[in-house]
Amino acid sequence: MGLSLPNRPWTDELSSSLAMIGFNIILIEFWLSGRVKLLSKILGIDWVLQVHQLFARTALVFLLVHPFMYTLPSQPVWMMGASHQNFLGLTLASGLTGMLSLFALICLVGLAITRKSSEISYEAWRLSHVVLALIIATVGFFHTIDAGRYAQELWVKAYWQLMLGLALLSVVWTYVVKPLIQNKNAYEVMSIKQVSMGIWELVLKHPAANQMNYQAGQFAWLKIGSSSPMPENPFSIASCASKNSSDISFLIKDVGDFTHQISQLQAGHKMFVDGPYGNFGVEAFSNDQDQLVMIAGGVGVAPMISILRQIERDQDTSLMNKKILLIYGNRVTEQAINLKDMVRLESFKHLEVIQLVSEPTSDWQGLTGVLDTTMLERMLSAHQINSKTAQFMICGPAEMIDSVETSLDQFGAPLANIASEKFQYDFGKKNPKNRRSVISAILGSAALLSAAIYATLH
Ligand SMILES: Cc1cc2nc3c(=O)[nH]c(=O)nc-3n(C[C@H](O)[C@H](O)[C@H](O)COP(=O)(O)OP(=O)(O)OC[C@H]3O[C@@H](n4cnc5c(N)ncnc54)[C@H](O)[C@@H]3O)c2cc1C
Repeated sequence: MGLSLPNRPWTDELSSSLAMIGFNIILIEFWLSGRVKLLSKILGIDWVLQVHQLFARTALVFLLVHPFMYTLPSQPVWMMGASHQNFLGLTLASGLTGMLSLFALICLVGLAITRKSSEISYEAWRLSHVVLALIIATVGFFHTIDAGRYAQELWVKAYWQLMLGLALLSVVWTYVVKPLIQNKNAYEVMSIKQVSMGIWELVLKHPAANQMNYQAGQFAWLKIGSSSPMPENPFSIASCASKNSSDISFLIKDVGDFTHQISQLQAGHKMFVDGPYGNFGVEAFSNDQDQLVMIAGGVGVAPMISILRQIERDQDTSLMNKKILLIYGNRVTEQAINLKDMVRLESFKHLEVIQLVSEPTSDWQGLTGVLDTTMLERMLSAHQINSKTAQFMICGPAEMIDSVETSLDQFGAPLANIASEKFQYDFGKKNPKNRRSVISAILGSAALLSAAIYATLH
């Protein structure tokens, strides 16, 4: 807006604005990939990844429409005629780089949206995501610098160079520098033992007693044997930090290649830990609500164990005396971890544990069924939980979290009082929290579009 360049049609101006906003989003996306500890600690991993996933769509739309809005001498671009006009009067290199980066962006967003339903392995998908993102950033940068009207200004060019530099730095940091640092900071398997059907407790120690400084409820990325960037998988920390020990433990369910390898580990094996990430758990340490309801599905009980361990470690009487209800659901009885082996449950004054199994054995004495709306309502009212004021924490499979969040919304629980940690990274199904995220992203995108229009008209 500050530059006084010769006038041109408003559609050309709007097109440039959309392209600049779109490319800015792309470069900022590198920092919203969930690998910046500070961001994930302040905002939570779900928030960061939802912004990452939703605004990628905004960038795609802005960048896809922009070439079609330019005008050619005497005709709109979509009526392209003679071959020399097919690159919008750009140099061949500018035209090709624009098309290549747009094509890469379409592939990247398409692969991300369809990842779960496609056959592609997580590792192959993640590699393709990084490679495509690098292509979009570097080739898109060339296109911006060469074709962009405003990028001809020295300081605008410097701005794009800085943004690209920062984006590339985030990749170099995650995939080169961090693995090198980790290589000097290997952890060692202290013990690995089966604690229920398919679930293993992995205890690691740092030989230098140099323990990671984490809060209960956070998670870390684990690598086996080598610190090279992949494969690495995220797991909630089940222990709580202690001054006297560098042990850190995880509860890991054997579901695939990586987790199966973990179950085969022996004491002394080398492992690499990158963390802590996320902020699930902070709610448990606040006294704003006088009732805390923890709802865990399967191995989703891991962060809850960590939180209870930390409350007990701190011996904070207001938290120890708080009414805590832990609802712990499993498919079969054998999958349930014996919580008494993990936490001294008796040290809590008002802690109640409800175990729920959907396919019980004949000798099962506890509750049977799934955690649907009726079951949840029954449990909350039986334990005098006020859903409008209690703090809820949910962790486990995405389907369970979606269903519990929907039920709690129906009971009038404010969304701000529901914290959840999904054990998967895909943008989940429709539930009240996701709806709110989508509406926020649409409003955010509308604000960006308005900014583009405002800049065009002034
Ligand atoms: C924040 C968070 C905390 C988690 N905490 C725990 C925990 O405490 N205990 C536990 O047992 N599980 C936890 N998980 C789930 C765990 O990360 C996956 O079960 C595990 O990575 C599966 O890997 P696999 O190769 O064995 O299985 P696969 O069959 O290869 O993968 C199964 C699915 O797991 C996901 N996945 C696989 N690899 C990765 C990866 N590198 N990064 C992210 N997702 C991946 C993908 O959605 C994939 O489709 C957590 C996940 C997240 C996101």
